[in-house]
Amino acid sequence: MNVHDSERMREVLRGAGYAEAEDSASADVLVLNTCSVREKAEQKLRSEVGRLARWKREQPERVLIVAGCVAQQEGEQLLRRMPAIDGVIGPDNIAELPRLLGDLSTGGLPAVRTVFDLDAPRFLPPPRGGSGPTAFVTVMKGCNERCSFCIVPYTRGPERYRASDEIVAEIAALCASGTREVTLLGQTVNSYRDPLRALSQAPGADPEDPDESEFAALLRRIAAEVPALRRLRYTSPHPRHLTPSLIRAHAELPLLPRHVHLPVQSGANRMLKRMIRRYTREEYLARTRALCAEAPGMTLSTDIIVGFPGETEEDFEATLSLVEEVGFRGLFGFKYSRRPYTPALKLPDDVTEQVKSARLTRLFALSEALLGKHLEGLTGSVQEVLVEGPAKAGDLWSGRTGRNEIVHIEGASELDLTGEVVTAHILRANKHSLHGALTEAARAAARQPRARAQGSQARRALPVVNEGPRAEG
Ligand code: SAH
Repeated sequence: MNVHDSERMREVLRGAGYAEAEDSASADVLVLNTCSVREKAEQKLRSEVGRLARWKREQPERVLIVAGCVAQQEGEQLLRRMPAIDGVIGPDNIAELPRLLGDLSTGGLPAVRTVFDLDAPRFLPPPRGGSGPTAFVTVMKGCNERCSFCIVPYTRGPERYRASDEIVAEIAALCASGTREVTLLGQTVNSYRDPLRALSQAPGADPEDPDESEFAALLRRIAAEVPALRRLRYTSPHPRHLTPSLIRAHAELPLLPRHVHLPVQSGANRMLKRMIRRYTREEYLARTRALCAEAPGMTLSTDIIVGFPGETEEDFEATLSLVEEVGFRGLFGFKYSRRPYTPALKLPDDVTEQVKSARLTRLFALSEALLGKHLEGLTGSVQEVLVEGPAKAGDLWSGRTGRNEIVHIEGASELDLTGEVVTAHILRANKHSLHGALTEAARAAARQPRARAQGSQARRALPVVNEGPRAEG
């Protein structure tokens, strides 16, 4: 979400006539986008502003803006505490960035814009000229959950939804300029409600069905109306809104890759209750089991917090056993961090730093082992890979399978595969990724004079292999 917000900032600045600088030394304006979900992220801002105070002293007309969730959280206090900062912009105020810069350039005083757009929520359009092979599309903003550890409802405000017509149009426009994979974004993306109430019009949706979800209807609508799209992901869903109709959508829509990131936070009911997650371990297991049964080959990844107030060794072991039982193929683990304005502030932060670190180490060891076994199992299989671009090192292409496994492709450096969906033989597994080579069919297709990937034409020109249990190897 922050990457996406930064892209929007770049876009509004470009629109106002700013050009991107190579580095801070040649920049007149610097915008820091910030995260405040854990204290560590907030500390980074402090040290970064300290460093940039020197940058400002070199040329006092330089402008330093702080954007994002720390901006929203701290507002004016930031200006008071860090005089190097000239402006503060909250996540809902990105569009006002050029005006703020304009005011500053004509002698205006340092200013703060951190007002939620509650009545007329703005969803800024994607960059002109497209976004590359993969793109994010915001479907909602804010959060109505009240997870006791989480600052997001405070920094991003209540849920506001984007009209499905606008979402579909944005995805179609992205695909027309070469995007093949879209990730729908929202804090609890599957609690999406369509302001247009598209539910009754969506193909395949039954408005009488109490389990129907407007998010599932949105997925069905995108699949029906944007045939050029190859993959449709979403992040992050809340387990509470993983409804039977959303599960069915995974079985019915080949566009949805067999991978879902579904934050669980803990495997102990006592902790889930204290975290106000509003599901039990048993409910999480039942829903993910149903999802994997409907969509064979499905893999899951998750977020976990260790050392939440009151977490005992037994609670933590329940988390380990849940990780094993679900068989997560990816995991983001975090040490609990006390955040301002959150309900959990009432609880003593009673798990020591040392215990938190030790638990995180054990959790990562387990998840690495699960991932390693999974990747090993894919050796020898053929995978469909959306190539995102050249790998950071070596003469390799880098991309992802539908299930989000990273694949490096060797022996094709003479071809331009960016944005192509190719098939690759998996030769070996690295610690966190796969290493493969193009199949003969993919190589032959790539050698043909390239009618540059545009929507459905390119789709026909490339070998298409369905994802599925076959790839389990
Ligand atoms: N709304 C998103 C979460 C965004 S924050 C969702 O529900 O998926 C991303 C992750 O950061 C969370 O899933 C959680 O695991 C972690 N996190 C949030 N607040 C935290 C805190 N106070 N301490 C440690 N980790 C936290």
